[in-house]
Amino acid sequence: MLGLMQQRELLISSFLDYAEAYHPRVEVVSRLRDGTLHRIGWGGIADRARRLAQALQRLGIRRGARVATLAWNTHRHLELFFGVTGSGIVLHTVNPRLFPEQLRYIIDHAENGVVFFDVEFAGLVADLAPHLPTVHTYVALGVRDELPDLALPNLLAYEDLLAAEDGDFAWPMFDENSASSLCYTSGTTGNPKGVLYSHRSTVLHTFSLMAVDTMAISARETLLPCAPLFHVNCWGIPYAAAGTGAKLVLPGSRLDGESLWELLRDEGVTFAAAVPTVWLTLFAWMERQADLNPGALKLRRVLSGGTAVPRVVIDTLRDRFGATLLQAWGMTELSPLGTVGNLLPRHDALDEEARTALRLKQGRTIYGIELRVVDEAGRPLPRDGTSVGLIQARGPWVLSGYFKGDGGQAVDADGWFGTGDVGTLDADGFLTITDRAKDVVKSGGEWISSIELENLAVGHPAVQEAAVIAARHARWQERPLLLVTCKEGRSVTKAELLAFLAPKVAKWWLPDDVICVDAMPHTATGKVQKARLRSEYADWLERG
Ligand code: AMP
Repeated sequence: MLGLMQQRELLISSFLDYAEAYHPRVEVVSRLRDGTLHRIGWGGIADRARRLAQALQRLGIRRGARVATLAWNTHRHLELFFGVTGSGIVLHTVNPRLFPEQLRYIIDHAENGVVFFDVEFAGLVADLAPHLPTVHTYVALGVRDELPDLALPNLLAYEDLLAAEDGDFAWPMFDENSASSLCYTSGTTGNPKGVLYSHRSTVLHTFSLMAVDTMAISARETLLPCAPLFHVNCWGIPYAAAGTGAKLVLPGSRLDGESLWELLRDEGVTFAAAVPTVWLTLFAWMERQADLNPGALKLRRVLSGGTAVPRVVIDTLRDRFGATLLQAWGMTELSPLGTVGNLLPRHDALDEEARTALRLKQGRTIYGIELRVVDEAGRPLPRDGTSVGLIQARGPWVLSGYFKGDGGQAVDADGWFGTGDVGTLDADGFLTITDRAKDVVKSGGEWISSIELENLAVGHPAVQEAAVIAARHARWQERPLLLVTCKEGRSVTKAELLAFLAPKVAKWWLPDDVICVDAMPHTATGKVQKARLRSEYADWLERG
């Protein structure tokens, strides 16, 4: 027997309708290119998103077509999040830090007809344009005066498009399973792979962000997402902001310490989300200032993830800001959230050290996502916090396949997606990631966690960044090799680093060698390019 409840399609436009109806004057603050702050209410965002929808119609963009953005976190990019998806068109947020060949590949693969771009990226767009056969229209995100002097086919100004419309438009209803947005994985090997979200998956993921044991996003919060809008839909935060009527603070391209400090202080930010590097940059800037009082800020919760969160971030936020760090884990294929590190009631009784140990884990499984750990033959392992294996995920906001099928089989017959991460799960659902499957060091058949060694190494006061890779070894097949960069004006020797690590790990985990390098190679999403380090240093121990 079927239930007798209404079948209303779960569409992204419903979030904006809610924000406009009940929170029209709640602000969306954006840092513009010249550093000034732009302010608009959710009512204004809704009006402009509707005008954008009308403009897209006038440009002849049909439902299901993909339009690309190359833009920072500003109100205009936010309007595209709603105006494009609300029209039934697919928003393809392109990461401008990708390498030019990757940019060409994904814009072509997505068959983008229109590219919306921040004026900062005019040079990049001009270089790419001759190689983008599918693109017929370019829209610069600004006023006509800001239009770059470029020979681009059909170059339009965003503000002109909006000014030509009246905003008298109602969001269409359509199947909730329709595609809403498209993100490509950064792809350290092979071509980037497209993950195509649906309205339904996005709405369910957004509901989860509002849950207290996930991010607890509510109308009481002032949110500062430093995670880029082009990275997995900014972890879903813009949609949750609209769906709750939270104040939203968008930092533009300025993620330096001073700019962030100003936003935290002047906008009364209560919740911020950023990868650990952003926090380390802020702390380094704070060290050079006199008379700062982070304890007086309203910041209470910080979400961080994308890479393991170093202990110094957790400790500094707690001790100096009075803020709690929540570590999250996920990936493009998971929309991205799989876990968030909220503690349980019984953890209140633990001492600070034990609570910090829990916060250093990758987070606790959230409702809506099933996680399991399996061995190399695919057999499930116990959730005991010690059995290390491959992490698999399943759920309504996990992909079922890559866009156009390019990227291979994504899930097995039972719907389990192999995340490529290696780690443990415990009985409470806490996840500990020890490695990417391809980064694990197998010494004499035993697994050594590169992430754990890296986390310990960055605890040394002279170390800025650390990477552990597997180096070939005659006897043990592989042994850990530690590469580090040092903080400005600091240095460290191999003997000092090994002495620092020795009391903290089993003897056989200690790296066989330590190399100080000037700079680490990074991917477009800021992760260390281990594949490149391996190609340069895999034979290091054999060089003699
Ligand atoms: P992306 O799809 O670019 O978001 O990258 C996802 C990958 O980032 C995951 O598969 C993990 O390897 C890594 N990752 C994400 N969150 C964390 C975290 N909290 N700790 C360690 N690694 C993480």
